[in-house]
Order: sequence, then C-alpha cells, then structure tokens
Amino acid sequence: HKTPVTVLGLGAMGRALAGAFLKAGHPTTVWNRTPGKGDGLVARGAVRTATAAEAVRASDVVVVCLYDYEVSRAVLGPIAADLAGRVLVNLTSDTPERSREAAAWAAEQGIAYLDGAILVPVTVIGTADALLFHSGPRAVYERHEGTLKVLGGNTVYLGEDHGLAAVYDNALLDFFWTSMSGLVHAFALAGADGVKGSELAPYLSALLSIFPPAIESTAVEVDSGEYPGEEAPLATEAVNVDHIIHASAHRGLDVGALSGIKAVLDRAIAKGHGADGWTATIEAVRGVR
Ligand code: NDP
Repeated sequence: HKTPVTVLGLGAMGRALAGAFLKAGHPTTVWNRTPGKGDGLVARGAVRTATAAEAVRASDVVVVCLYDYEVSRAVLGPIAADLAGRVLVNLTSDTPERSREAAAWAAEQGIAYLDGAILVPVTVIGTADALLFHSGPRAVYERHEGTLKVLGGNTVYLGEDHGLAAVYDNALLDFFWTSMSGLVHAFALAGADGVKGSELAPYLSALLSIFPPAIESTAVEVDSGEYPGEEAPLATEAVNVDHIIHASAHRGLDVGALSGIKAVLDRAIAKGHGADGWTATIEAVRGVR
C-alpha cells in the first residue's frame, strides 16, 4: 500500500511531480488554480478537487510546487487548519529567508514541514538522476524518504535548518546562471567576427574539463582562506579580463557582467590580493552592502 499524496500546483513542474507519484502507484490527489492543467493527470488516475482544502484533506503528505513563496503563502494561509497534523513538503524555489519564514509559520500551525528544492528540469523528474534537496526535521524526512525518492533517485537530506535546501539551490543556480551568461557572451564575442557557434563549441566543451579539478581546489582554498597564486596571480588575470572587456565594447557588446567581474578583481587587488589566485576574489565578493 503506497502513501496517498496530494500535489498543490500543476504548473510544468507540479504536473511532473504528480505524474511521478501516479507512475509509482501512489494514490494522488491534485489541485490547481486553473483546473484544466490537471486533465492529463486525471486521465492517468489522479483525483482532482475543486479546492485546495479538499485536496489537502485527502492525504497525510502534501507536496506544494507553485510560482514562488508569495503564491504559496496565498494558497496555504487560508487552509492552515486543514494542513495541521499533516506533512507539508514545499518544493517551490525561493530564498532561504522565505523558507525559514514558512517553517516558522508551519510550526505555529502544527504542520510538520519539509522545505525542498528541485535542481533538474521536468523531464528528469522521477528518474534515478533527478537531484532534489530537502531540509527540516530529520525524523519527518526519514519517515517519508521512500515517498520523496519517487520524485528523484538523487534525493538528498541536508539538515534540520529549513533554509538549507534553498541555500544549496541558490548557490548551484548562482554558478549555473553566471556560467550560462558567460557562455552566451562568448558566442556573441566570437560571432561578432563571423565565427559560428558550431565552430567555437568544441573548444568551449574542452575547456569544461578543467572545472571538476578547479571546483575541488577552489573548495579547499575557500575553506582554508589561503589562495595560492604563483601560476596565475590576480594582477595578471585582471589584465586578461580587461582585454575581453575592450574587445567586447569595441564590437558593441554588453559588458555589464564583465565589468562587474573586473570591479571585484580590482577590489581584491586593492585589498592586497594581487599576488594571490582567483579564489581570493571571494574576499571582495563578501561584505558588500
Ligand atoms: P509554472 O509557471 O509552470 O507554474 C506556476 C504554478 O503556480 C501554477 O500551478 C500556477 O497556477 C501557480 N500560480 C501562480 N500564481 C498563482 C496564484 N496567484 N494563485 C494560485 N496559483 C498560482 O512553474 P513551474 O511548475 O515550472 O515551477 C514551479 C516551481 O518549480 C518554481 O518554484 C520553479 O522554480 C521550480 N522549478 C521548476 C523547474 C522547471 O523546469 N519547470 C525546474 C526546477 C525547479 P495556474 O496554472 O493557475 O497559473
């Protein structure tokens, strides 16, 4: 007998979550503001309710996946009494502060609360590779781990602090979005001189192979606060960044991100890190208000 589950929010991700529960044989109840988005799930055996309150009363485990925490508060606030005594798993993405606020609210209402984050696109949900983070009371997580792992084989419990799932999520997305914007910019820079994306792509892919060891060594340096820079001191790297800024500006390309990077480099050098390695820029990234 599989644990009955309710899914609130049937956007692209909510539908994927509900679909995974159905596929794994969990009795699944769904609700969405726009009910039509549940048609496909109902056809596959889900029960659709007219109100979020009815959906919540159908299961002891309630998974929420909405646009953001403001929407989540608007949906959950009025049905707190229905949620009391149940397990609420909020998989909506937002900030750690919002997660901790939601946890404080849930505690006041007598709701067992786990905060989660989804790190993969909808197509990967329900597979062994799907990465999801959870944080909140360990006992609650352990009791429902089997049900939660239906959504992704790579489901990780991070700790009791409800903000942790969002901390990891935000950090990974920080790396992802800044990398993606650099990638697009690189294509624009080479493209301005007639180089096709497909011509540059193999070299960008080859460059990626330096990242796994760079991540390992950067982690060691960040943790130790020592930033050896014999091979590539910041002062030299700053000149290279300047070249890219000038070449980009000359071609009429946006230099906002690169100028921001240069400003951080300059502050790190001003703080005396010119002979250190790139990781020393963390000293200039921190403490900005
Ligand atoms: P969608 O935009 O597809 O869905 C948003 C959901 O929020 C819908 O259920 C929508 O209802 C609901 N909603 C929005 N405003 C309101 C409101 N005022 N009142 C009630 N319901 C409202 O988003 P996704 O499903 O893609 O994303 C949901 C969460 O999952 C987000 O936090 C996102 O960051 C996260 N996520 C998504 C990924 C993806 O690949 N899609 C990947 C990783 C995380 P309605 O249908 O009625 O508009």
